[in-house]
Amino acid sequence: MDRIGIDLGGTKTEIAVLAECSGAELYRRRIPTERSYDGVVRGIRDLVQAAEKELGRSCSVGIGIPGTVSRETGLVKNANSTWINGMPLDRDLRLALNRDVRLENDANCFAVSEARDGAGAGADVVFGVILGTGTGAGIVVHGSCLKGANGIAGEWGHNPLPWIDKPGRSCYCGKVGCIETWLSGPAFENDYFESTGKKKSAMEIAAAATAEDAEAGAVLARYIHRLAQGLAHVINIVDPDVIVLGGGMGKIVSLYDAVPLVWGRYVFSDSVQTKLKPPMFGDSSGARGAAWLWP
Ligand SMILES: [Zn+2]
Repeated sequence: MDRIGIDLGGTKTEIAVLAECSGAELYRRRIPTERSYDGVVRGIRDLVQAAEKELGRSCSVGIGIPGTVSRETGLVKNANSTWINGMPLDRDLRLALNRDVRLENDANCFAVSEARDGAGAGADVVFGVILGTGTGAGIVVHGSCLKGANGIAGEWGHNPLPWIDKPGRSCYCGKVGCIETWLSGPAFENDYFESTGKKKSAMEIAAAATAEDAEAGAVLARYIHRLAQGLAHVINIVDPDVIVLGGGMGKIVSLYDAVPLVWGRYVFSDSVQTKLKPPMFGDSSGARGAAWLWP
């Protein structure tokens, strides 16, 4: 059976269909994510129906979601798209699609996709990070996603950023100074706004920094240092072979050379062999990893 993978993001929802044997991509489409629970369920149902109509057959369905499904309640928890928190998304998608579906944290899906045949292919341990609207991560060991006793393995973004001497911002999770409030795309844009009084998108700021705009350059340099601190903490605990950066911020090309020049100051080792890589499948990795939730 061909596999449908859906990446439910905070701003967009993407569907991909992978061929049963080859894993080749047969179909792809992207829609804006509605900011309501009913809209999310409807959007996913419509995407699946449209894909299956075009392909002329039914497929397995895996879905990468922000947050995770609580083992205790069966309800979504920890999503930065807060309108799906506390909702029975698993059950409602089964009903809407009239079949069994598999849900997994979106960062875990990203990490699985990149570890399977992407930037981390062949590595023993891959840490896949999404630096987008939020900051999630997944840990893949020998090709399998580490789930954890509480279903939160890799939830890196809601620890405080280490080795920083500034109080952080309040996070939607109720804590203050979470990594997400320093390293998400909105956090980067906000840092630029606070230091310049100007509003620019993350990509505009990164482009300005490359064009030697001093203000943008300073904001990017701070971001690089903070990302190095956050990832050094991960290296000290998980010691991955490869770290892959997905999400909008992962498209900033200069991160891949600049961050490893800084993280050695914080890693508890005489040398750092960990590789920092861009994703091979880019934004597609979330949907691809969700498709691979079915064997
Ligand atoms: Zn938080």
